[in-house]
Formats: sequence, structure tokens, C-alpha cells
Amino acid sequence: MPFDRKLSLNSPVQYLKGVGPSRAKLLESRGITTVEDLLYYPPFRYEDRSAVTPVRDLVAGQMATVILSVLTTGLTRTRRGMAIFDLAGSDESGLFHCKWFNAPYLSTDRVFRPGLKAYFYGKVEQNRYGRGNLQMIQPQFEILPEEEASSQPREAGKIVPIYESIGTLNPRLLRRLQSSALGVLGEAIPETLPASVLERTELPDRGSSLRLTHFPAKGTSLDELGRFRSAAQQRMAFEEFFFLSVGLAVRRKKTKALSGIGFRVSEKVRTAIKTMLPFHPTSAQKRVLKEIVEDMKAPVPMNRLIQGDVGSGKTIVALQAAILAMENGYQVALMAPTEILATQHYLYTRNLMHRLAYRVGLLISGQKSKEKADFQQRIQAGEVDLIIGTHALIEGKVEFSRLGLVIVDEQHRFGVLQRFRLIRKGASPDVLIMTATPIPRTLALTLYGDLDVSVLDELPPDRVPIRTSLFGEANRPQAFEFIRDRVQRGEQAYVVYPVIEETSRTHLRPAVRMYEQLSKVVFPEFRVALLHGRLPSQEKEAVMAQFKSGEAQVLVATQVIEVGVDVPNATVMLIEHADLFGLSQLHQLRGRIGRGGVQSYCLLAVPECVTEVAQKRLDAITASNDGFTIAEADLALRGPGEFFGTRQWGVPAFRMANILRDQTLLEWAKREAVQFVEKPGSLEEFKRVMEYLETQWKRRYALSQVA
Ligand code: ADP
Ligand code: MG
Repeated sequence: MPFDRKLSLNSPVQYLKGVGPSRAKLLESRGITTVEDLLYYPPFRYEDRSAVTPVRDLVAGQMATVILSVLTTGLTRTRRGMAIFDLAGSDESGLFHCKWFNAPYLSTDRVFRPGLKAYFYGKVEQNRYGRGNLQMIQPQFEILPEEEASSQPREAGKIVPIYESIGTLNPRLLRRLQSSALGVLGEAIPETLPASVLERTELPDRGSSLRLTHFPAKGTSLDELGRFRSAAQQRMAFEEFFFLSVGLAVRRKKTKALSGIGFRVSEKVRTAIKTMLPFHPTSAQKRVLKEIVEDMKAPVPMNRLIQGDVGSGKTIVALQAAILAMENGYQVALMAPTEILATQHYLYTRNLMHRLAYRVGLLISGQKSKEKADFQQRIQAGEVDLIIGTHALIEGKVEFSRLGLVIVDEQHRFGVLQRFRLIRKGASPDVLIMTATPIPRTLALTLYGDLDVSVLDELPPDRVPIRTSLFGEANRPQAFEFIRDRVQRGEQAYVVYPVIEETSRTHLRPAVRMYEQLSKVVFPEFRVALLHGRLPSQEKEAVMAQFKSGEAQVLVATQVIEVGVDVPNATVMLIEHADLFGLSQLHQLRGRIGRGGVQSYCLLAVPECVTEVAQKRLDAITASNDGFTIAEADLALRGPGEFFGTRQWGVPAFRMANILRDQTLLEWAKREAVQFVEKPGSLEEFKRVMEYLETQWKRRYALSQVA
């Protein structure tokens, strides 16, 4: 291949032999566009085909490798007409049959000529019609080239990597691609880890680690490989953690070296906060506020994450910090992930601050452009003190006159990138990030390496644990009666549907249609409102206001209400098709009730038959109200890959590493990274690492700047 000679890690994957446009497209769907990307697609398990078993010693039920000389082949048909290709072969110890269904491609003499030798790998099975004879059905095979029958075959006789298929790219094809990439690259796989780190950690080099991750040496412990614990695999995971940690460490160092705003706490600040507070803060809220205030007083930019379960009262803590900033003459930006949440924060804040002179404004994408332009003008002129909004806030046009504090609510809904964009809108504003996603503290510290973490680990005192129960189709009337009863007492209810309108999944009840039915047929005596993501902004705002004020008694909604919505008088939530929601999602949704001092109820509608996993989710949600417990269950059910995807955490998805499986490695890599940033082997080395990081982050995380 003329291309191959020039192949480097950065070459498009299409330069590889065997990859045409359509395969390239498949690979791209997994983020694989270069040869390097391909090599960073590790096997998810391995099979040991290194031991060749003599035919005589084969045992039914086992996976085994045999070497056979082909004796005869032939095509037979089953009574239903299915073609079976049968191969008889032998080794020194006996005769053996292999069979393939519907494999006309084998039936030419070209594949298995008598006399050929080949490896066969597969499950040994009893031949029901062959008087106790053993056979393999559809074994994988590798023919030994005649002229080099004695040389090492590619797959057989080795530990074989098994890759997750990518569309029609099956493990076997992927294996061939990996092997060809490694073959053509030869020694041309440059080291990425700095020499000083390699020396200290005694980790193997990158080239051989990549090679051995894909094609482990004979004799490597399968158990270690399965747990990603071989030296080569560990090195690859370490590398990934190391670079992330270096990036975060550099960023943190830079932030700490920036001069930030030293906010001053005065009597005026205290009075304003007292005027605003509608209740006594919990001791956790007081502690967290104190940590925030300490940061804000210091002339270094604050970078703090508040972690608190749904309903723990994060908003009020943030608003107190906002008052501190505003009293010091600065603007505050509060960013929320949905229009509904932004709107609600706006209404809540305006209400709480109505006796104070701050100018509070709302900026969401759905607003009319004239209205938006006017508002942007006022922000720029410094005529608005507290700006609440969605990602509209980080769009290019918004300029602040004196941005002093940035608050990001429900951080896990934003990417890393978005947070930094908003921060760049001010000189070096203080940053406060809030999330309800529970994550073990050590993990949070390592992952959000550039953040300090505060934990709100106490719910407001008036909370009564929510009661959650499941009901089936037959009990629907009772469920509706239950809602009727609560609403008649002056409380409010949510009814949540998974989809807005009819879809191809016709069995799903869509919110829009059910709204009609609920408002006209089921609850004609109540004021029922409808809320979903596709409503125009103004309508969303109006509906939220109606429900908040109690004017609407029953709110029919989709998952849009999942984050942040706060109406303490709502005490019942009915979730339709609860089996279709994720566990965290259910917990977040349920977090909308149980916010006042009244007993709240969550009713989950489930069909007669649900999948096993769905049943486990439902068991977990009914058994606990605690975010951490639920997160753990979620993690166990979904597996870390899905759980820690970029979407949920705003952190990069790893290719080799897995932050749960490799947690000790993560801590080790972080220590090494910090040490490296403090004291690199040489300036040259440091520069090279930063360059590598820059290109990596640009490509993988779309971050324009490392620090
Ligand atoms: P989350 O942490 O989920 O964002 P919120 O900030 O929305 O929670 O607070 C949940 C509800 O609890 C709100 O109605 C809020 O006014 C109320 N709340 C917060 N702190 C307290 C407190 N210390 N005492 C009583 N109610 C509180
Ligand atoms: Mg909130």
C-alpha cells in the first residue's frame, strides 16, 4: 500500500488498508477519525486461545482451540432447507467436525482445501445425531499459510482481544485493523508522558503499552486483563488521567495566581441578607455560606462547587452570595440549564428581593430579539444587577459592565466548556457552581480538580420523607382519586409523561393528549395546566407563574420540570410510564415534591411487564429518598461508562480509563500531575506536555484553551 508507508498516528483512519469511506464513517460515529483514535479503542475483554487442545482431550461445554488438518468438506441441507457446511479434520489424536450454517462462502474449495492446516476456536458441543461425537458450531478459524505453516498465526495460539462491534465492524475486523495499524506504525509511536514521570513511576512506554493492550503477550493473566490491570493497560489509563490532571492543576494554579475581587462584608450586606431570608438557614447552609464568603473576601477568584441533594436549599445560599457581590457594586450572572428553571429562579428571586433595591432581569433565548437587545444594552450599561438566564447568557453578544460573580446552577447539565465561556465574560469573577448530582467527595475533588467543594448534607428541617409507590393499569382510577383528594385539600399535583406528542411508540401516552383528557374528563373541576419544552418561552413563563401562585392546581408536564422547579405546595406527583425513566431522572423528578412541611406522595405508573433492569430501578427508587444511595444503585445498574458520560457530569469521557474501576490510578495520576506541574523535569518537558495537552483538549473536549 503506497499510503501505509507514510502512516502516522495523526493519519486519517481511512489511510489504513481495509478502511473505505463507509467503514470510516462507521468509525467516526465512535469518535474514531485518526489512527491514534483507533488505537485508543481498547478491547473490552480478551479470550485465551493460546492453549491448543488435542482433539482427544476436548470436553463438551468448553471454549477451546484445536489445530486440524482438513480431510473432507461438504454441503448438506437440513429438512427445512438450511445449508450446512461440514468440515472433517484431524490431528494426531483424533477426528473432529466443524459446522457452519448458511455459509455458502465457505463451500468453495478455495477456503478449505484438503490437506490445509487451520486453527479453530469455539465452543465444544455434543453432536446430537453423531453418537456422542463432539463438534464445534460456527467456530472462528485461521488458516495456516502452507509455506509458513510453522510460523505464528495472527490470532490463534494467542490471547485474543474482543472489541465492541461498531455497526458492521465486528470484533474480528476491528482486530485486523488494530493489528495492521500497529504493524505499519512499527516503532513510530512517540512517547507522551514526560521522561521524569516515566522514570519515577516505572511505567512502560507508550508504544509497547498500546501494543500489549491490544495484543497481550502469551501468559498474561486473563484475570488481570479482564480487570484492566495489566501493566500495559494501567499505563494507558494512567496516561489519560495524568493529562487531565495536569490540565486541571495548571488551570487551578493560574486561577490562584490571578488577582480576583476582594469582596467586603459590611453591616449593609448583613442587613440586606436578613431582609431577604424567608426562613432560618440550616446549619449546613450556614457552613457552606461561610466557606463561600471566605473565598469571596480573598483577592483570588473563587472556584467553588456546591453539592447538595435535590431540595437541600442551594438556591438561597447562592442568592446570599449574590447579595454580597451586588452590595459591593458588582453584577451577578446566574445561569440555569433550562428556560423553565431560569424563569423560576427569576420569579423566586424577584419575590425574595422585592424589598431590596436590586435590579433583577431575565435573559432566555425564547425572548423577542428587540426585548433581548434592549436588555443586553442595559446589562452593558450596568443598569441590571442580577442577570438570570439560560445559555443565552454565554452567547457572544452579552457584555457585562462589572461582572463580579458567576453562579452556575445544575452544573452537570452543562459542558465544561460553557462554564469557562461565562467566566471569561468578566475580568476574573468569582465562580459558584451548584449541582444535585451526588458523587463521592474524593472523586469530585479529583475530577473537578480545579474546584473547591462544599457539601450541603442536610435538608431543611420541615421535610417529611416522600412516600413512593407503584401502581398498575387496574389501579389508575384510585390514583386519580388520590390526586383529587389532595387537591381538594388545597395542595397541588404534577402529572408527568415521557413524551410531548404521539410518536411511533404508540403505546406511550403523550402529554398533550393526556392534558386534554385530564382537564376535561378526569379533573373537570380543577384548573389544569400544561408545560413542556416546546411551548413558547412566554407561555412557559406564564404557566410556571400560574402553578407557582396556585392558580393552576394540576400541572401536566414532561421531564422539563426535572431540574430545579420549586413549588412547595405541590405534594403529589404521578409519573406515567415510570419504567422508561432513568433512576437519576426519577429522583430528580420526585425532588419536585416534598419541599414543604406536608407529607408528599410519588405515584409511579408501571405496565404489567417491565424489563429486569427497569424493575431494579423501580425497586431502588421506592426504597430510598437519598441521592447518594440512588446514585450508587444507578451506577451499579448502568455501568460506569454510561453513568459518567460527558452529558451527566460535564467531564470528559475517557477512552482507556474508567474512573470507577481505576480510582486508585486516578489518585496516583493526580499526585504525579501536581508534582509535575510544580516541578517538571525541565522546562522543555513542561512545554511539550502543554503542547500535547493543547492539541488533545482541542480535539477531544473542544476546549479552546487548556488554561
Ligand atoms: P435545591 O437544592 O434542590 O436547588 P432549592 O434551593 O430549590 O433546592 O430549595 C428547596 C426548597 O426549600 C425551596 O422551596 C426553598 O425555599 C426551601 N428552603 C431552602 N432552605 C430552607 C430552610 N433553611 N428552611 C426552610 N425551607 C428552606
Ligand atoms: Mg436547585
